[in-house]
Amino acid sequence: MFTQPEVEWDDTEQEWMRARADWRENHICPLCGYPKEYCQAPETEFELAEPKRIRCHITTRLRDAQKAYASLPTAKPEGLLWVPEFRQ
Ligand SMILES: [Zn+2]
Repeated sequence: MFTQPEVEWDDTEQEWMRARADWRENHICPLCGYPKEYCQAPETEFELAEPKRIRCHITTRLRDAQKAYASLPTAKPEGLLWVPEFRQ
């Protein structure tokens, strides 16, 4: 059956991780990853230039494959894990 995993961190380390998670939740924007004090400040709207677009080719290839698969009549996309394969 299942085994109980061993605790890797002691109480102090666990408290550090909890404090870090609390800090991230309160100070980091979940959308952009920047500090909320900056990205949500009204004046930031006027400081931003046009964003750069950088393509992730792995995500693009995975999304294309997922769309092609989803169009099949027998597709069951729920529960699938998609893993990139690299040509030899
Ligand atoms: Zn943000």
